[in-house]
Amino acid sequence: MTLTVHDAAGLRDALRARRTAGPVVLVPTMGALHAGHLSLVAIARERAGEGGTVVVSIFVNPIQFDRRDDLDAYPRPLEADLDACRSAGVDVVFAPSADAMYAPDRSVTVTETALSRHLCGASRPCHFDGVCTVCLKLFLLTGCDAAVFGEKDFQQLAVIRRMARDLDVPVEILAGPTLREPDGLAMSSRNARLTPKQRADAPRLHRALRDAAALDSPADILAAARREIEASPHARIDYLELVHPHTLRPASARPAVLAAAVFYGHVRLIDHVHLPVAGASGSGKK
Ligand code: AMP
Repeated sequence: MTLTVHDAAGLRDALRARRTAGPVVLVPTMGALHAGHLSLVAIARERAGEGGTVVVSIFVNPIQFDRRDDLDAYPRPLEADLDACRSAGVDVVFAPSADAMYAPDRSVTVTETALSRHLCGASRPCHFDGVCTVCLKLFLLTGCDAAVFGEKDFQQLAVIRRMARDLDVPVEILAGPTLREPDGLAMSSRNARLTPKQRADAPRLHRALRDAAALDSPADILAAARREIEASPHARIDYLELVHPHTLRPASARPAVLAAAVFYGHVRLIDHVHLPVAGASGSGKK
């Protein structure tokens, strides 16, 4: 049975007895659940074991949005999400309101000051402050033993791991691979907001990164990816960068990550591919 709770007290009550029976594993989401989210739930289920508890949080976190229109347009199909959680065997859904999460005069924010300065953090100032703050709150509210994040948001994963390390947060951070549509587009709650023309064109993003990653020189890689993305009349590049996989600083040699954010109209999609050192296992063609 899936229990749905909407505030800290409800969550505490739901987890009190369960906690003694096994680990609590959290999957933080903003809802509009798709198969990518549910693959993280499966990882959580595995980690929690039979007696453990899988918690999915569904919260469109206002403080991580840099644009009001993006926050307002973010899909919130709660009933469908609850159905998906029931079918996936989630034990507890935590779906708070913004008021339940944040005091009107909140004045404490968690800031990561290195990894979050690049890529999405450079084009969305304060985004990762919002992400770190909400994740730490969710970790504290659930008292989870582990939490599962998607590699799709690889910068988010790196920032959360750094926060957990630097603040001694006693939560094991697990990662799941990116699930894609059959045409290669990374699954995302934002895909539903693409027009049919934009949706037809969007797989170009992954194709551009994947094909460019097969080239040798960084300049050729960046030029080829840019050419392919910009060949579309629908796409506008927010950033396209080669960065080191650990520091996220600009990289001029392998190992590297080729990462991009691209606007299709008002919808901003992100994707990346790994460029491992030549000869290393796992070619990174995710
Ligand atoms: P979101 O609801 O977009 O905040 O995402 C919640 C979690 O699901 C994050 O850890 C994301 O990285 C992860 N996620 C989003 N899309 C995918 C995907 N296509 N495959 C796997 N995980 C994903």
